[in-house]
Amino acid sequence: MPVVWLDDVRADDLGTVGGKGASLGELTSAGLPVPPGFVVTAGTYRSFIEDAGIDEELFDAVDVDHEDSAALKEAHERAHELIVNTPVPDSVAEEILAAYEDVGDGEAFVAVRSSATAEDLPDASFAGQQETFLNVQEDELIERVKECWASLFSQRAIYYRNRKGFPHRDVDIAVVVQEMVDAEKSGVMFTSHPSTGEPRIIIEAAWGLGEAVVSGSVSPDNYVVDRTSGEVETATVADKKMMMVKDAETGQTVEREVGDDKRSKRVLDEDEIARLVELGERVEDHYGEPQDVEWAIYEGDVYMLQSRPITTISDNAEQEAAAREAAGDGGSDNGQTGQAASQSSGDMLLRGLGASPGIAAGNARIITKLDHLDQVAEGDIIVTEMTMPDMVPAMKRAAGIVTDEGGMTSHAAIVSRELGVPAVVGTGSGTREIADGQPITIDGDKGTIREGAQAKEEQREPIEEARPKTPVKPMTATEVKVNVSIPEAAERAAATGADGVGLLRIEHMVLSLGKTPAKYIADNGERAYIEELVEGIRGVAEEFYPRPVRVRTLDAPTDEFRQLEGGEDEPREHNPMLGYRGIRRSLDKPDLFKHELEAFRRLYEMGYDNVEVMFPLVNDAEDVFRAKELMKEAGIDPEKREWGVMVETPASALCVGDMAEAGLDFVSFGTNDLTQYTLAVDRNNEHVAGRFDELHPAVLKLIGDTIETCREVGVKTSICGQAGSKPQMVQFLVDKGVSSISANIDAVRDVQHEVKRVEQRLVLDSVR
Ligand code: PEP
Ligand code: MG
Repeated sequence: MPVVWLDDVRADDLGTVGGKGASLGELTSAGLPVPPGFVVTAGTYRSFIEDAGIDEELFDAVDVDHEDSAALKEAHERAHELIVNTPVPDSVAEEILAAYEDVGDGEAFVAVRSSATAEDLPDASFAGQQETFLNVQEDELIERVKECWASLFSQRAIYYRNRKGFPHRDVDIAVVVQEMVDAEKSGVMFTSHPSTGEPRIIIEAAWGLGEAVVSGSVSPDNYVVDRTSGEVETATVADKKMMMVKDAETGQTVEREVGDDKRSKRVLDEDEIARLVELGERVEDHYGEPQDVEWAIYEGDVYMLQSRPITTISDNAEQEAAAREAAGDGGSDNGQTGQAASQSSGDMLLRGLGASPGIAAGNARIITKLDHLDQVAEGDIIVTEMTMPDMVPAMKRAAGIVTDEGGMTSHAAIVSRELGVPAVVGTGSGTREIADGQPITIDGDKGTIREGAQAKEEQREPIEEARPKTPVKPMTATEVKVNVSIPEAAERAAATGADGVGLLRIEHMVLSLGKTPAKYIADNGERAYIEELVEGIRGVAEEFYPRPVRVRTLDAPTDEFRQLEGGEDEPREHNPMLGYRGIRRSLDKPDLFKHELEAFRRLYEMGYDNVEVMFPLVNDAEDVFRAKELMKEAGIDPEKREWGVMVETPASALCVGDMAEAGLDFVSFGTNDLTQYTLAVDRNNEHVAGRFDELHPAVLKLIGDTIETCREVGVKTSICGQAGSKPQMVQFLVDKGVSSISANIDAVRDVQHEVKRVEQRLVLDSVR
């Protein structure tokens, strides 16, 4: 049977109707108001490819080396072509169309969505990348169903299965066809409080279709209802500037400005709230746990579009607190204070900045030249002037890192944090005062280096091992993301449960080529350079899919480039930090910059729609408009993709209102640079390191004002500088209403909890 009705589907029909179909069927059978629809079963797809005799050709076509991007692209095109060019047998097409006739009045607009079957869900990352078509009618339906089938062979999906060794022939796909609700009002509802689990229903509501609320492009009204008394405790009416609607002529979903009469008008009346609350309670009862529901109201009727469990964490928070207690957390910012070390013997040799937490003991390996790197054995402690991208493999083997130079935002600090290797940076004289082979113990919290390798049993167990194996992250309204600089750290970063990557620096990928981009291209060609970028970014985008990954275009100062092959052509600058870097260099050399943009375009083409573009070191609207123009020239549609800029100079903070007119989706505070430029303190100069203060009132004023302006103009705000990992900064930002915070890998858990604490306080303050 090619189709089954949602009414007849149950949760255990997953193999026939896929995850989406099964969940909608389950809700329908529970008597909840789900828009009508049917599923083109997984068996229909299977018979289609087998009866047409294209199955073997299809599987052969996608049997390619997943690391070869060109082969992957070709495989995808061939598979897509095979499926969409093969006619669906008349009998099957007739059944699908007959079902469509029964959905509405024969002219209904339907949503057509792929629904992956259980076998194809080895992890959630694959599920998110399948196709959805909205506002489809009879004339397009069969083609759209075929497109959904073909979505099994997107470049991403082929890459994913080939990499995991998951056979393409074992994969099936179903397609859900469901009437669209032309919502007048819509939103989301948490059936219990999302962070405390209390019996309070939180409803967010806006005008028009739900995409606007779900995608965060509109600030919705917020209603808090006490489930016990049924009282609406608070109703916060937002200024809703835009809405999504179905265009009456084309049937497409379009953005519209909300008329003055409705902008600041309350969306839901008491009766509608009461009906949503009743629905929320039924859904929660049905599933036996709190749910996060998408709903819509059309012609007075309330519909449920989707429901997922909320993982509230009050129990887990306590469990974690206990685990941290057991691990001896002395309450430091990052939760890794080394109690054992502070009591340890061993004379103090040196002090520096504790740049990556943890304690390490081992033999010092003084590294002065790159060709000594193979001398670094597992468990050694690297002692060097400053680390370089070529050192990353040796840094992974090392137990710890010590550098003479650099601050908390130096290469050594960033990379060792991402690798989870304890580090002390900026000691000034480590390479001179520590002897090669000398046993030492370093404390990456306190920034100390002591003589002698402290016995292993004295070292404290890393906090990760003391935590529950599968930590459940706190549910917070402010997203907590993670910073990534080396693609090798992606897996570790994703395991934190972060809501995405707030900053993926590509400098380390480029610098690790060992040549400047111009030299690399001269030697290996443009394609090879683009491929390197695509591969580096893809690893992270894949690991996080469908969570968003904000990738920043190149921002390497000339002194870093100078150390590479080809570096002799770099300009000699008096102060590279104030010089030829970031967007100013990219705008000056568009021919080189376009290769970076081409890498983004390729990633979008491959299906990595979770990638976001971010431009560094912009100063004003002109910088932003010019960057946007280049993005368009490279074939990236700024209306379709999420993009934004870093706010790293006082100029950009002061000009943010004008910059927003370019259509930015977000800005992200680069507090490492914003602090250095606001306070005139070179971030790499240890002589003024004591004056480097990201919490300085001037820096906070710039940040606070920028958030305020951005909230007025509907631009999301974030932080991706080092200060985002500091509790005081987290408190300040959440208070101000920042949209997301991106922290270092080792700080994500603490930031999640800090955000939750501040949000709870804000909620309590608002109801008192
Ligand atoms: C910053 O300036 O805060 C930032 C995140 O960028 P980078 O450290 O790479 O300059
Ligand atoms: Mg910066």
